[in-house]
Amino acid sequence: MWQTEDMHRLALGDFELSVFSDGTYPLDGGAFFGVIPKVMWSKKVSADDKNYVMAGLNSLLIRTGKQTVLVETGMGNKLSERMVKFYGQPAKLLDNLSAAGIAPEDIDIVINSHLHFDHCGWNTVRDKDGKIVATFPKAKYFAPEGEWQYARKPSDRDAISYIPGNYDPLVASGQMTLLKGGEEIVPGISVKTFRGHTASMQAVIVHGSGKNPHPVAENATMVGQPSHSSAAPIACYISDLMPTTAHIDLTWGMGFDLHPLDTIESKKEYYARALPEKWLTVFTHDPETPWAYIEKEESGKMVAREV
Ligand SMILES: [Zn+2]
Repeated sequence: MWQTEDMHRLALGDFELSVFSDGTYPLDGGAFFGVIPKVMWSKKVSADDKNYVMAGLNSLLIRTGKQTVLVETGMGNKLSERMVKFYGQPAKLLDNLSAAGIAPEDIDIVINSHLHFDHCGWNTVRDKDGKIVATFPKAKYFAPEGEWQYARKPSDRDAISYIPGNYDPLVASGQMTLLKGGEEIVPGISVKTFRGHTASMQAVIVHGSGKNPHPVAENATMVGQPSHSSAAPIACYISDLMPTTAHIDLTWGMGFDLHPLDTIESKKEYYARALPEKWLTVFTHDPETPWAYIEKEESGKMVAREV
């Protein structure tokens, strides 16, 4: 099946971006593609005999030269037995970071787009006494305030998606800051609310400066359009608004989306800037293509052009 073991790395202006995977997990194809008929989605992704498709768990690591920022922390290792039966528990993120020489102490900032269990699982771990502690001891954590409020009283439908141990201890200790949406977290990295998947999910927008690449990124593939060389390149971790390259059509939302009509409006809002400004879109659950440029062909068809 699909793998996301390889580390992907590139330069965005003077920032270095890398994708690290927490592994892959099976999701019901019907839930993944909502009202889209299987005869259509099965042309883009394959399903096994139980109708499961494989989903990735992509975290984005940004080195700004001053800080190391981790966007999303995968599924983690604290799932209940019941959830392990559904999803497995790949729990590869820390090993994959370690293989690249990155220790938990090296992370300065953690940002969660929303608080579903498959996006903030490695925020915390159990220590040897079973107490839940921050995985990244020196990091400041950030998550949407509206998500946290909602997570305290979720609907019956999505209550299973919220595991309080992933965020409540961090809020209680003051290590997690709750965001309204629109904040700049460090220079060049900001959040923006896109309603649809949940009411308060926030995308993370990264503005690389148009200057020379940062030394750590010297050997990485350069991103940016030669015709737009004066403009600073922009990347966006769009999270579950568009979880994979198979979800880039306006109406291809997930069955999990709580506000599916808002997903469509939010995609329109995203494309209104991301297409003309040639943003690099980072896909949270794509097991093969963690990032791509989304383009609209003359026919109106959306295509993901690989980096
Ligand atoms: Zn989600």
